[in-house]
Amino acid sequence: MRLYAKFLAILIPCFLCLAGIGLWYEHRTATSVNTDDLTQRIGALTGRVATAMVRHNAADNPSLANDLLAPLGHEPSVVCAEYTSALRLIASYPRGLGCRNAQFDQVTDVELGEGVSLRIAMTESLIKGAVGRQLQQSTLTFLGTLLLAVISASIGFRLIVGRRLERLNQAMTVSTETRKRQSLADDSGDEIGRIVATYNQLIRAENELEEKLRRTNLQLNESSQRDPLTGLYNRLFAQRNLDPLPNPTPPDTGFIALLDIDHFKRVNDTHGHEAGDTVLKAVANRLNACVRDDAVVIRWGGEEFLIAFPNVNPEIGPMLASRLLNSIRQNPIALAGGEGLSITASLGFVPCCLSPERDLKTAVEWADRALYLAKGNGRDRACVLWSDRDSNGELLDAQLKHGDITWVSGAAIDRRDDRNPSDRPLSA
Ligand code: GH3
Ligand code: MG
Ligand code: MG
Repeated sequence: MRLYAKFLAILIPCFLCLAGIGLWYEHRTATSVNTDDLTQRIGALTGRVATAMVRHNAADNPSLANDLLAPLGHEPSVVCAEYTSALRLIASYPRGLGCRNAQFDQVTDVELGEGVSLRIAMTESLIKGAVGRQLQQSTLTFLGTLLLAVISASIGFRLIVGRRLERLNQAMTVSTETRKRQSLADDSGDEIGRIVATYNQLIRAENELEEKLRRTNLQLNESSQRDPLTGLYNRLFAQRNLDPLPNPTPPDTGFIALLDIDHFKRVNDTHGHEAGDTVLKAVANRLNACVRDDAVVIRWGGEEFLIAFPNVNPEIGPMLASRLLNSIRQNPIALAGGEGLSITASLGFVPCCLSPERDLKTAVEWADRALYLAKGNGRDRACVLWSDRDSNGELLDAQLKHGDITWVSGAAIDRRDDRNPSDRPLSA
């Protein structure tokens, strides 16, 4: 049940009880006052009429006697009045009839001497009728007042309590359903004002908590996508953000490169694991330094790095491959003991559009095959596969045969490899 309905359910019976008590009291006093008033007034009037009758010797003058009776006839509760002498009707109200056939409840006989008497007959129903009319009026007044009181109490309740609670309820519903928490303005300081202040405090605390949680989530999300050793993005990041590989304008641009440090195991074996870590960090920094901001460098695993170039024209792919290899090879890496260590890397390079769906898995598979070819062809080089088929539509082995592969060794770029495929370690 709504609060407003509950309020009315209490208010209306209370008002009705009060009105009932009031009406009962009014009825009681009105009846007694009216009956007493009437009896007194008629008694006084009868006395005056009787005195006038005697003074003017009205027994001898019926017309005067009728005039003197007239005021009694005007009384609403008097049914009849008669002025008689030795049972002879001198004057009467109603004129000529007297009280012979009248219905009445109360009779007053006044002896005026020598067989002359004045009789007044009254009826209670007339008295009650007058009282009833008055009571009806009082009832209407009471009910009108009750209605006005209920209406004004309802309006007051709505303004002071109902609307404010509705606003609070609305704000709470919006906060829970849409998570858009809005504070409310209510500085009244009353009970509802205090509830609103507590609600405002709660949503402030919740907003702060949510902001904290959001920041923590961001940090967690960020760190879950980062490699702790090199600070580069990891495979999870790639799977979330580079699958499928972006397809910018103009379409079908973009390359991915898979780079693997040559003979890295030897670094660990010869110089220790820490030196290996130093080399990994140095390689990460060098790769990051030689690509543009729109390229992403990822530690794919172990000593393998994936570099995504979303906006690269395929023509400059080999040049980029060469630049990456040079950045690794160029300067020795300083190890902890001050010793410099020269390393090289091999690289497999493929265009993103190699698979029409541009899915990361296919691109990495082909980059891995290209890397495998580069390793097999003597390391410290890149192999750029332009397609998973050669110009005759044959698969990779045929590309090797027809030389539809670009080999990058140092700064030198060969669009075609004219060595006999059987000379190459991997072509067999
Ligand atoms: P290849 O030229 O054929 O790539 O030879 P490789 O020695 O580089 O390759 P291999 O896969 O044999 O060795 C990779 C090594 O990298 C093995 C592993 O111990 C090492 N490695 C992987 N992750 C880490 C790392 O986080 N830190 C260090 N220090 N070494 C690592
Ligand atoms: Mg490896
Ligand atoms: Mg390696």
